Amino acid sequence: MKIFLLHRIHSDIRSSCSILASTSALLFFIFHSPAAIFPDNPETKLPAHSTAKNAVPYKKIGVPVLSYHSVYSDKTAEKLEDPFVIGKTAFKAQIEFLKKNKYKSISLQEFYDFLNGKKYFYPPFKPILITFDDGWKNFYTNAYPVLNQNHYAAVLFIYPSATGYSEFLNWKELQKIKRSGHEIEGHGFSHEFLHNMSKEEQLGEFKNIQNSIRTKLKHDVKWIAYPYGVFNHHSQEALVKSGYLGAFTVFSGENLPGQNLFSINRYLVIRKDSMQDFEKKLSIRSLLIEDLNPAQGSVLKKSDTITVKLKGTYLKNQLNVFIGGKFINRNKKVKFTYSEKTGQIKINIPYRNKSEFIVVNITAFQKGIEKEISLLYLSEVSK
Ligand SMILES: [Zn+2]
Repeated sequence: MKIFLLHRIHSDIRSSCSILASTSALLFFIFHSPAAIFPDNPETKLPAHSTAKNAVPYKKIGVPVLSYHSVYSDKTAEKLEDPFVIGKTAFKAQIEFLKKNKYKSISLQEFYDFLNGKKYFYPPFKPILITFDDGWKNFYTNAYPVLNQNHYAAVLFIYPSATGYSEFLNWKELQKIKRSGHEIEGHGFSHEFLHNMSKEEQLGEFKNIQNSIRTKLKHDVKWIAYPYGVFNHHSQEALVKSGYLGAFTVFSGENLPGQNLFSINRYLVIRKDSMQDFEKKLSIRSLLIEDLNPAQGSVLKKSDTITVKLKGTYLKNQLNVFIGGKFINRNKKVKFTYSEKTGQIKINIPYRNKSEFIVVNITAFQKGIEKEISLLYLSEVSK
């Protein structure tokens, strides 16, 4: 997956544009609920999800999070190399698919409460979080009208060093987007890779986003989407220290109560996704882990061991472990040991990794359902 294309695009834009003078933010009465998108619709006066006494909440299925980047006209999208650019027709079809299948967008607060076991969602509606990375201007022109028309709220992860460049949303547009019920959170201050930064440098990044958004949009940033989905073993501590509640990766899977809030799964939507692919992505289930050593983002050498304690009981032959030498590629099945008694998997790093990143992907197939989890590590070449 050509995840690094985005970096090139961002660098090009940064080097070729001048920073626009920023506008000062006005303090508006903010509706923070997705319902503000369609305040006149009587349906929205009800809670987003039925709480009827006899309703049975979703327990085994978690919340899917979609990760979008850009939505362009079909003609433009086809010409662009960037795999994360979606055509307007495909985007509309995806949103209509969600509507037809009774998905309702939830707020970050509802998502947080669900992950902490304080809120459940009830049929017939299914919860979903729709996110957009980078804060591209085309959100405003192409995605925003479709979302509003279909009563879906989005979460935008922006990086303030780009805000105001002509290809990116300006603060005035962001204020309007926020007022209509969408949420604006952080995506780094500079969109630089975090995995090469010290804890102090990351603290600076995370604080700078908060200061900038607090000044312009008058709210506290509490969530981040890791730039390029990449982080190191200092990131979580620096985020907690800065008052963040959670962080989003680009690994596929649903999100369940009891998981690490600083490793939230998202389904990356790419242009070549057919509707079938889109539907399939939404159905990837997640494995929960109880314990992990060393922590994600640590540097691993050849022969180092990762110990993962799974939640739930599995047989060895239901499990598989893959190591991706490149980012998020599940490209090499590796040997591992597993204790059915303790639920502990031990994985030896079998080779010296040439890529900067080591992605360990564990899958479990049981009762006709496959579940998976991806873990991000750094290799020696990262340093
Ligand atoms: Zn980005």
